[in-house]
Amino acid sequence: MKITYMLSPTAPYITHCHSSNILSENLKMDDRIDVTFNLSILSLSMKIIMERKRLLETMGDSPVEAAFKAPHMAQNLLRILAGLCSNTNEFLSHVNSTIKTDIVLITCWTIHSVPLIAYLLNSGRRVVIGGSFCNAYPSDFIRILIGKSVSDSKMKNLIVVGGYVGMNTDLHEVIEKWEDVELPKTDYADMWTSTGDHIKNYLNLLSKCRVYDNTYYSLTFNNNCWYNKCKFCKLRSEQQPNFIKNIDSDTLYDHVVENLKSYKSHGILVGDNYFVFNDKNKKFLKRLRSDGYKVQVFSGIMSLSSKAYLENISECVDGISCGLESAMNFSLDYITKGYKWDDIKNSMEMMNKHMDRNTSIRYLAIFDLVSKNQQEIVQNYDNMVIIKNTLNDHGFDVSFSFTPLQLFPSIGLVKDTDYLKIKSNSDRVSGMWYVYNHLKKFGFEANMSPDQMMPFERYDIDGNLLLSDFEYVSSKVMKQMFGES
Ligand code: SF4
Repeated sequence: MKITYMLSPTAPYITHCHSSNILSENLKMDDRIDVTFNLSILSLSMKIIMERKRLLETMGDSPVEAAFKAPHMAQNLLRILAGLCSNTNEFLSHVNSTIKTDIVLITCWTIHSVPLIAYLLNSGRRVVIGGSFCNAYPSDFIRILIGKSVSDSKMKNLIVVGGYVGMNTDLHEVIEKWEDVELPKTDYADMWTSTGDHIKNYLNLLSKCRVYDNTYYSLTFNNNCWYNKCKFCKLRSEQQPNFIKNIDSDTLYDHVVENLKSYKSHGILVGDNYFVFNDKNKKFLKRLRSDGYKVQVFSGIMSLSSKAYLENISECVDGISCGLESAMNFSLDYITKGYKWDDIKNSMEMMNKHMDRNTSIRYLAIFDLVSKNQQEIVQNYDNMVIIKNTLNDHGFDVSFSFTPLQLFPSIGLVKDTDYLKIKSNSDRVSGMWYVYNHLKKFGFEANMSPDQMMPFERYDIDGNLLLSDFEYVSSKVMKQMFGES
């Protein structure tokens, strides 16, 4: 059986995908499968790097442009452009032209994989999809989404594989059967120790087109979130596997350091949604740090209010990314974030008392969330500037980055309410569509589909239309929020 294996089209920025790692070894070891590893998505990598450069050189001083030009937005802007660029005919036909087999297996990470899957099916390929996209959505839903642009007869050439591949998973049988399947649970230890991993080639190639020296190598231990209530967040309802449960700290260390060397990177970004410390990960992180590597984790306001947690941060971590989202109670309540402005202020006091000053803090905000009114939109940014100035005064290095609100089908925010209405043909949209429309003014085109990323309008509590935050907040405030510490 001849197949082509490729990574998610939205993987052109630096990351380490556990399932692809073990998957590539599984495919290579199966004598019945003749696999070609296709790295053509790297063309997208170069495209977004060039687009970003061009946009930043052309952009002026408006609030949205000032925000995008912020140094800490570099990776976020690449990520935003990757999502948009992966939908161009030029990219899709290039990838298709490099595939020489009928069967294509794709690890899909996000909904932005849909155009590629549809394009390949429409080109007569047989497509097997798996990965976090297939774990996040039911296969029926995925079929409806892809089926919007693919005929019923060609949809028969698709199978959706949920779950995680292990060394003993019989992929040949899965493909022979050709029906949607949920894989049985496996032992994940071998994903860390596999040696014939084609991802190494990918990492080496990425290292050649890297644009920043401080790029982190990303990996995930466990993607569960102890809170798991935010309405905009698309975590799986079921528990996610603990990828490091069956591997000891030293073996994990050896494997990760080998990949850090492949990628010529000096730090790791632990992608767990909301990092929780335990004895094993503390030992691993401390060893990495003592050998000169930097460690970044994702955390949140509630944990950053705990003395014990902050002491662990000081001991094991160099930088935290904190999902703040907003600094206004109305918006925080709307997305059921579980804390308020007073809690944010309390977390700053606790950090001041218990966290090492060398720990850098990056807050992640969502722009264009539902808001009470225009005044509160402006106040939100003033509060974020207060956060930055307060922590700077305490001696911390603080930065902000943002994502414009993106509505994908089936996340908890996608329903018409008094405050948020899905509108496909409006020129007064907020969120990512506002940004996308703005980028078009610079000649940026991406054929974004409203089925995948839904355009929406916002309304205040009195029913008045709210435009994007960028229409109300000045460039000066954007620069205060995003400027260097
Ligand atoms: S705290 Fe973060 S990971 Fe957890 S549900 Fe909210 S957004 Fe998702």
